[in-house]
Amino acid sequence: MKYVYAFEEGKKEMKNLLGGKGANLAEMTNIGLPVPRGFTITTEACTKYYEDNKTITKEMEDEIFSKLEELENKTNKKMGDINNPLLVSVRSGSRASMPGMMDTVLNLGLNDEVVEGFAKATNNPRFAYDSYRRFIQMFSDVVKGYPKASFERFFDKIKEEKNVKNDLELTAEDMKEVAEKFKLNYKELSKEEFPQNPKQQLMEAIKAVFRSWMNERAIVYRRLNDIPSDWGTAVNIQEMVYGNRGNDCGTGVAFTRNPSTGEKKLYGEYLINAQGEDVVAGIRTPEPISKLESEMPEVYNEFVKIANLLENHYKDMQDMEFTIENNKLFMLQTRNGKRTAQAALRVAVELVKENMITKEEALMKVEPKQLDQLLHPNFDVESLKNAKIIANGLAASPGAAAGKIYFTAEDVVDAAKTEKNVLLVRLETSPEDIEGMNSCKGILTVRGGMTSHAAVVARGMGKCCVCGCGELKIDEENKTLTTKDNKVYKEGDYLSLDGSTGNVYGELVKTVDPEISGDFKEFMSWADEVKTLKIRTNADTPKDAKKALEFGAEGIGLCRTEHMFFEADRIFAVRQMIVAETLEQREKALEKILPMQRNDFEELFKTMKGFPVTIRYLDPPLHEFLPHTKEEIEELSKELSLTYDDLKSRIDSLHEFNPMMGHRGCRLAVTYPEIAKMQTQAVIEAAINVNKEGMNVIPEIMIPLVGELKELKYVKDVVVKTADEIIKNSNVNLEYKVGTMIEIPRAALLADEIAKEAEFFSFGTNDLTQMTYGFSRDDAAKFLNEYYSKNIFEFDPFQRLDQNGVGQLVKMAVEKGKLTRPNIKLGICGEHGGEPSSVEFCHNIGLNYVSCSPFRVPIARLAAAQAKLKELK
Ligand code: ADP
Ligand code: MG
Ligand code: MG
Repeated sequence: MKYVYAFEEGKKEMKNLLGGKGANLAEMTNIGLPVPRGFTITTEACTKYYEDNKTITKEMEDEIFSKLEELENKTNKKMGDINNPLLVSVRSGSRASMPGMMDTVLNLGLNDEVVEGFAKATNNPRFAYDSYRRFIQMFSDVVKGYPKASFERFFDKIKEEKNVKNDLELTAEDMKEVAEKFKLNYKELSKEEFPQNPKQQLMEAIKAVFRSWMNERAIVYRRLNDIPSDWGTAVNIQEMVYGNRGNDCGTGVAFTRNPSTGEKKLYGEYLINAQGEDVVAGIRTPEPISKLESEMPEVYNEFVKIANLLENHYKDMQDMEFTIENNKLFMLQTRNGKRTAQAALRVAVELVKENMITKEEALMKVEPKQLDQLLHPNFDVESLKNAKIIANGLAASPGAAAGKIYFTAEDVVDAAKTEKNVLLVRLETSPEDIEGMNSCKGILTVRGGMTSHAAVVARGMGKCCVCGCGELKIDEENKTLTTKDNKVYKEGDYLSLDGSTGNVYGELVKTVDPEISGDFKEFMSWADEVKTLKIRTNADTPKDAKKALEFGAEGIGLCRTEHMFFEADRIFAVRQMIVAETLEQREKALEKILPMQRNDFEELFKTMKGFPVTIRYLDPPLHEFLPHTKEEIEELSKELSLTYDDLKSRIDSLHEFNPMMGHRGCRLAVTYPEIAKMQTQAVIEAAINVNKEGMNVIPEIMIPLVGELKELKYVKDVVVKTADEIIKNSNVNLEYKVGTMIEIPRAALLADEIAKEAEFFSFGTNDLTQMTYGFSRDDAAKFLNEYYSKNIFEFDPFQRLDQNGVGQLVKMAVEKGKLTRPNIKLGICGEHGGEPSSVEFCHNIGLNYVSCSPFRVPIARLAAAQAKLKELK
């Protein structure tokens, strides 16, 4: 087994083995770009490390040291050599990019002796000690887990003592003092001297990178981004180049196109005389990349050339990291840049027009989930007119967000449990804030640029973000935000953020739904040309249906009739029906409901203009419709001319210990067939009425919660008898279908039998997941977090279909159903219908359609196109 590869031995296709960073460093090396030399320890080595109980075997260590020796020979430097030391960076890098989630150590190889020699040899003691203090801090943080803040305290104190504002003003002596203080702090914390042996430093750093794969924030990030935990991370060991060596040095990051808008223009930031993460961490305010053109024209021109070359080479927008040492440019990283949905579409469409990629390739470049961002709110123009701007920061990630402000990630997570709209306000964010960033509607930071952590992560999440809003003063301890003119905002106060302009408003501004751009339309039409899976929507009202049609829905896969029952003007009749003691009473109540339902269906059919509409019959436990409070019961008893006690005892008798598994679904129609009869009458009459107006509706009647053929047959007989009689009497031809949901495991097991009666199956994967796992979707949230952090579950099976377990039931039911009825129509109407990996699964097992909420229709369309393209590959 080979665990270590020199950059010369790799290429971009080896991402799985070398990680994204390693594979791209290898690729850049091999196409002749200026990349500091180095080697990569593979992701398989990481997996092995975990298999071996978090140890690195002797063989692996030997392999690492032998590659290190090669590197020493190539660079003509030696680790630990006092006159000519090899210093390296130790960098994590997994298959999928996880910005800022794992750790990097720079300047490794320095110790008390080497730093002295380094200072002499370079004739630049300030630089040598600056490197040393950085190394001590990073090693302490990454390898030992000592808080950065405990080091920064000393750094700030020395800056204060010397009365300087930023690190550049500190002298060699000051830096030496900082390094000494850092070492003392290290000793204090660890009760040991700072490790002096470079090879030991190296091995410890490698292990720390492996360990960082399992740190809390990496686990959360993986869960949010569907990255499996068994991928592991690679470790890159790379010769250092120094951006902190003087004023002809620097470091920066840049994109080949604007990651916010997609505009084709080099976009980025850099800092002179700085190293590593200084740009992102907001140590000083970085300069825009365009300024490099006048400051270092040769370096700038070379960089532009390389940026173009890389974009052409990877055929995608690149996100690059570089360092300049004594006017010489080095490339340290390139990857396909993260971008907003708006930018993703623009880049994809423009790359096709520039003839760089095909439409099919363009379709694969946009993440379906991201499309959601385009459908997010903007500010209401009128409401915005009167709003007062209290500050302006960087427009880091577009969209509008308004809500109550909180100052820590934990507070946000807490508040979001009860509040719909919560904003996270921070001095700057760090990877520890990831859950808070996920729970909030928008992010505001006081420090940091367009490539700061907050900006990068927010864009990835498609969340509104304004960053670097330096005119606001934040007091994190007392949780207040103060404006230039001394207005103070406290926790829980309202702010509104415009991530497209950087404006901050000191009040709640109304938000409105977005409109769809030209790029979106064009791009989605390409998806429609490719996909074979139909995309329907879950819609109960003409309004939802209309929205879904705008987003490209091709039918309704689930209309939940009970949602029509809750309307204020009909709940009374519904209650009357439920508490009815006799058939007569019940039929009387149903008679009142009939015209309302018929009208609902007519409207829905008209809106859907002949697209298929699946109507699910009454599903939830009846007591959900009943009043609960004393006042409500009293009121209803009067309306129904019942005594309070009679009504109360009737309601009590409907109580169930486990309603999700109680008297619901088709069980209602079995006990009260008159309900199914009324619903059939409403559906069929509505269809006849609109067909008379020239439409061609074929209603699909769906019986829920079936587990046994005979119960389906019982209800179906009621439906068919009622329907056929109405059709006969109306003298028109009307086709209709009767099918069932497959949502009880038993129905999946017996799908061949069920298909004898069912003309279609619609997989209700919410209930199916719930019943297959045996835990309730309403309660699972309470313990699933533990399951994620203990790595028992990697994702929420209610969001992403569990293909191994639940998926097997679905697949089996598809196969069995087709045995009985080869042309059976198959669809899915659970939450999973709008989740990309589940859509792909549905495509692969041969479903005809997925159905999802209106706002997820575009996501499903793209996911379906991608599934088809993957199949064709
Ligand atoms: P991340 O994955 O968080 O971006 P990196 O491994 O890219 O972490 O390291 C962060 C930064 O450290 C890089 O952008 C670069 O500025 C600096 N760095 C890494 N390796 C080297 C090196 N060999 N020489 C100089 N700087 C380096
Ligand atoms: Mg990092
Ligand atoms: Mg990087």
